[in-house]
Amino acid sequence: MSRKPREEHDRPHRHHYDAEMLSVEEARGRILSYFSQLSVEPTPLLGSLGQVLGERVLAPFHVPQLTNSAMDGYAVFSSDTTGSTKNAPTVLQVIGVVAAGQIADQPLKPGTAIRIMTGAPLPQNADAVVPFEDTDELERGETVKPDDTVAIHIEAEPNDNIRQAGEDIRQGDKVFEAGHILGAGEVGVIASLGRSEIQAVRRPVVAIVSTGDELLQPGENYRPGKIYNSNAYSIAAMVTKYGGIPSVKGIAKDTVESLETVLDGALDADLVVTSAGVSKGDYDIVKDVLASKGEIALWSVRMRPAKPLAFGLLDRKDGTRVPHLGLPGNPVSAMVAFEQFGRPAMRLMMGKPQVEKPSIEVLMDDPIINHDGRRVYARVQVYVDESGAYRAKLTGNQSSGVLSSMAIANGLAICPDDIDMIDVDENAKVEMLDWPDDIFGTL
Ligand code: AMP
Ligand code: MG
Repeated sequence: MSRKPREEHDRPHRHHYDAEMLSVEEARGRILSYFSQLSVEPTPLLGSLGQVLGERVLAPFHVPQLTNSAMDGYAVFSSDTTGSTKNAPTVLQVIGVVAAGQIADQPLKPGTAIRIMTGAPLPQNADAVVPFEDTDELERGETVKPDDTVAIHIEAEPNDNIRQAGEDIRQGDKVFEAGHILGAGEVGVIASLGRSEIQAVRRPVVAIVSTGDELLQPGENYRPGKIYNSNAYSIAAMVTKYGGIPSVKGIAKDTVESLETVLDGALDADLVVTSAGVSKGDYDIVKDVLASKGEIALWSVRMRPAKPLAFGLLDRKDGTRVPHLGLPGNPVSAMVAFEQFGRPAMRLMMGKPQVEKPSIEVLMDDPIINHDGRRVYARVQVYVDESGAYRAKLTGNQSSGVLSSMAIANGLAICPDDIDMIDVDENAKVEMLDWPDDIFGTL
């Protein structure tokens, strides 16, 4: 990391961080060891954006299948137009019209032209298309009909304004390899091969369980003392953003029975995410329930926000187990923890081994203070200044309950565990929240 270089002696004192706590990388490493790629299955092409191909796609035919016109104009023998100019045009007999989707009903003969539209297959024997603009078509002010003549104003070269069969993709060519991520362009190319279904790694289903006696579902009438369940919504939105299928399971009360009941309905997912109940005050319920239903580890992760984290495996009735990620309850902590641990788990399940978040180096407008030797993820807005440099400013109150400062952040600026502050005009690494996570370059 290229933070502004400082000599060891003038660097502010380093923190002696708590080795009992796990680093983000240690926690992530442990969690990710429980995840692998999900199955490949037939998938509707429409809706496959962002999924990973589970097959090698071969071209069953040339694209385009037929040599065709790139312009609206006249299909000609180029040799008929030798020496043509506006003042000394070649006059050709128009013997027909061919539109996109049609095949000309006759071959071209010397001294003739066939009116042709963009995308229409080139008539037999024609070797060039002369656009309307280079004929007298436009100045005549009426549509040219068969049996009329047309004046050609230029000398056409062979292949002018022609798209050759197979110039995009040749029959039998490998178009995409298995493992390729489907972007909008890939989806279009596969559709151009006539397919509406492909083999793709299926999307993970992520069950979302909220816990807390204080929670109301958005849409319910407000009751004093309660708060609306925002975590289910923000986490569901992140699951969708990262290519999964959220399955929101509702709210468990802070009782063993209630949590058990809600969890029972969540076990068929690929990942169960709970929020809250993992901090000191009340984690006993979550811990007891999860321990009785599988295996759980409660960790303190050396990060701010989102220190308390639970991870475990829940037993299903059929003897298999489903991974469980227990996020902290504070709304920002829940989102930051899902970024660091839920998102990479989803990527592995989706067959995307690259789990690093796209990040850049910025110059800070505000200091990031590290009070207690934990890695700080500060909510920032990254912008480009007049000189073209990336800079970042804090989005406001950094309390882990202040969700609005997360909403307007487009990145998380990092102050490492062992550095007590990144000062104004020093470099920081920022994990970008609004940059695409998939790099499509696969050539
Ligand atoms: P806890 O982890 O249960 O101690 O909760 C920490 C904080 O997060 C408390 O202020 C809770 O009210 C809040 N909180 C817990 N769950 C949610 C939720 N689903 N949506 C919004 N805030 C929550
Ligand atoms: Mg609670």
